[in-house]
Amino acid sequence: MRIIITAIMALALAGCGSKTAVSDSEGALDTQQSFKWKLVTTWPKNYPGLGSAPENFANRVAAMSGGRLTIKVFGAGQLVPAFEVFDAVSQGTAQVGHGASYYWTGKTKAAAFFTSVPFGLNAQEMNGWLHYGGGLELWRELYEPFNLVPFAAGSTGVQMAGWFNREINSMDDIKGLKMRIPGLGGDVITRAGGVSVTMPGGELYTSMQTGVIDATEWVGPYNDLAFGFHQVAKYYYYPGWHEPGPILELIVNKDAYASLPKDLQAIVEGAARAVNQDMLDEYTARNNSALVELVETHGVDVRKLPDDVVAELRRLSAEVVEELAEDTEISRRIAESVKAFQKQAMTYHEISEEAYYRARRQ
Ligand code: CA
Repeated sequence: MRIIITAIMALALAGCGSKTAVSDSEGALDTQQSFKWKLVTTWPKNYPGLGSAPENFANRVAAMSGGRLTIKVFGAGQLVPAFEVFDAVSQGTAQVGHGASYYWTGKTKAAAFFTSVPFGLNAQEMNGWLHYGGGLELWRELYEPFNLVPFAAGSTGVQMAGWFNREINSMDDIKGLKMRIPGLGGDVITRAGGVSVTMPGGELYTSMQTGVIDATEWVGPYNDLAFGFHQVAKYYYYPGWHEPGPILELIVNKDAYASLPKDLQAIVEGAARAVNQDMLDEYTARNNSALVELVETHGVDVRKLPDDVVAELRRLSAEVVEELAEDTEISRRIAESVKAFQKQAMTYHEISEEAYYRARRQ
């Protein structure tokens, strides 16, 4: 009996196989056609961490596709300036872009939700929301009018509050502070009486050195050490209230994506997913030793933001997020989705992640 069933199954499988083979010959899965894409980024070419993610993506795609899809990576300014990545991919000048969604709030304000919400989700929670909590579907809906398909492609984990040339002892110290801080965090600083500016990473060192800005947030020890901010700033503040787990994005031109055979589409998706986790792994490993180097070799003055300042920033952040939620119908749906997810995550993580961190110290 078992032999008969096995034989029937084998015949059934063979049937499926021949059916697939027929559709192959009809061109549904053309394994001969090759594609050459361009990838533009908002990061300097070969910049550690953030800038290595697009290279990592391109290398994985080339290897997994056996060279059928090759992607040439251009750093900021090589093909288009950093802040023209969104338009370049939307219009098809390049097929792929790597950057952060909160650089595009001038296109669609709700893009800010997909990088980070101040006092919002950490990296682990952002990934949970995006991939199992409906976040990615909302992101795709938001970018659809721009002819773009977004993917999560990296996270730095909790960032630092930033580099300051002014002590922050009270909210008064934020008044008039010129700080590079994009996205919703920037809106909070503006609401607190500061002046928030957005500029690409490659311009920050000189802007701090020349006093164009008084403060800048960037990432965390690993990436901040690479830019040398300790040479041009007095204080290094934490916690990174404004970016608790920012997600970097990979954007793909929708027509270019649709033109790929299904297996190459799956490779693009799989490589993005791999790079997304890989970046978090790299930061998790490298931030620790970079902090030691900043403090012990460079004598960096690491400071904690006062509790009352953090509490006020939290209050202002809730106002800013609520205001963005009222902007459009899709903003409202995104805000409600992420808020509901955070409520549940906080309840469980209080007795899991938080409880464990506390237990580990005792
Ligand atoms: Ca940042």
